[in-house]
Amino acid sequence: MIHILIIIGAIGLAVQMVIGLSFFISCIIEKEKRAVIAASIQFIGMFILFGLYLIFIQEGFFDTTAGRTTLLVVYIITALFAFLLIRKTKANTKTILGTKGLITADDVKRFDERETVFARAGNLRPGTKQYEMFYAEHPEYKEFDDARRAKGVPMGHAGSIDQPYGNVNVAMMMACSSLPFYLSDKEKVQPAPHLSLEKELAKQKVAITPEEASERIKGFAKILGADLVGIAELNPLWVYSHRGRIVKDNMEDWGKEIPVAHRYAVVFAEEMKFDMIGSAPHTPTSIESMRNYAKGAFIAVQVASLVANLGYSATANHFRYYESLMVPLAVDAGLGELSRMGYLITREFGPRIRLSAVTTDLPLIPDKPVDIGVEDFCCICKKCAMCCPSGSIPDGDQVVVNGIYRWKLNAETCFAYWGKIGTDCNVCMRVCPWSHAQTFPHRLIKALTVRNALSRRLFNKMDDIFYGKKPAGKNVPKWATYKPWIQS
Ligand code: SF4
Ligand code: SF4
Repeated sequence: MIHILIIIGAIGLAVQMVIGLSFFISCIIEKEKRAVIAASIQFIGMFILFGLYLIFIQEGFFDTTAGRTTLLVVYIITALFAFLLIRKTKANTKTILGTKGLITADDVKRFDERETVFARAGNLRPGTKQYEMFYAEHPEYKEFDDARRAKGVPMGHAGSIDQPYGNVNVAMMMACSSLPFYLSDKEKVQPAPHLSLEKELAKQKVAITPEEASERIKGFAKILGADLVGIAELNPLWVYSHRGRIVKDNMEDWGKEIPVAHRYAVVFAEEMKFDMIGSAPHTPTSIESMRNYAKGAFIAVQVASLVANLGYSATANHFRYYESLMVPLAVDAGLGELSRMGYLITREFGPRIRLSAVTTDLPLIPDKPVDIGVEDFCCICKKCAMCCPSGSIPDGDQVVVNGIYRWKLNAETCFAYWGKIGTDCNVCMRVCPWSHAQTFPHRLIKALTVRNALSRRLFNKMDDIFYGKKPAGKNVPKWATYKPWIQS
């Protein structure tokens, strides 16, 4: 019996060493200097432990009473620790309800897109009818907004953080953002059936069961490039009450009421590449944001068109045309949980995603919201709040705003910082422990993190040790380095 235990012990230590080695390699892949040093120390420690164990076997230590007792105690402690790390604890009762678990009042008002900082900065020009109307109704924003306008361009100068060297990156960012712009016309976001199909399909709805429609749409979205797809029953609260962010010249749409026309939302998430986020807040992060906004528009518009071709109504929601709020829809579609920084955190990519959606009246089968431990993790972590350069992320508890229980990001100061540096910053996204690359050890850590509170506390501490409480930004990818592009 003791010999079997000795062999299992040796195998266990060897497996531990392999995991340690894989973590060391993962840190190299991630180009995390501090983590490489910490992981190498950890691996050397594991190697020495394994070596000592082999020496003990050779010297017959485990044939003695003291050796057997030591082995048994180590076995019991290890088994107990492993059990505590692996066991699945009770689900978070709020989180498994999706956004319904966050609503604390019956009189929650729908959000008005005109009040968002993007709509105010982008669409309210002094001297226009919209400017007068909006500030007459919302004087609380006027002083702040006018002060921002007085400083110059309200949206900031693109790429200013990397000037004079970042202009090529700005050009790339703008190239990506042109696609959602092209795809924001009414006939693209609320498509009619394709002309050649009109006769056969448009007059009657295609007979398809909700199960088949859900499977087909998910498969189609994935083949178009979506990394995650989920379906939610559309809560009318997450449909904006009025349009406010108008990107083309059709300002007559500004202030139009948005009807709640649909019952379902198909939500798509696209992964933002780890390497591109690593140098945030520098310009590559904005290229990556825009690249994925473009991808989201490409997917949403085609899925909306597919639904229209089946004879149902659909609206594509993407970077240049929103009728609904994306994060609550994604929570209800089971793609992840709401975090301290206000982004959705997915199990697969953390907050490194961009979202788009299609709302529709085509009957579908909704997915269930998920509990992956984000709320608990955010309560202990606070890394984004500590690292946010504008102090926009709260480091305290959630509060109730408009009847919704959540951490309240200060969108005004966050946006002002974007204007100052000329990118969408993403420092919070970069430092979040859920954002690590999808390597084997990080997948393993996530698999444990979602299971129980002890794992979350352990891995939160380990993240501080390996990556630092305030992780340093990485160099930008070589092809996007800050070389002067205009030779004098
Ligand atoms: S950095 Fe920490 S506190 Fe912030 S969102 Fe990520 S897990 Fe939550
Ligand atoms: S994007 Fe930047 S400024 Fe805005 S909340 Fe995140 S870290 Fe703060």
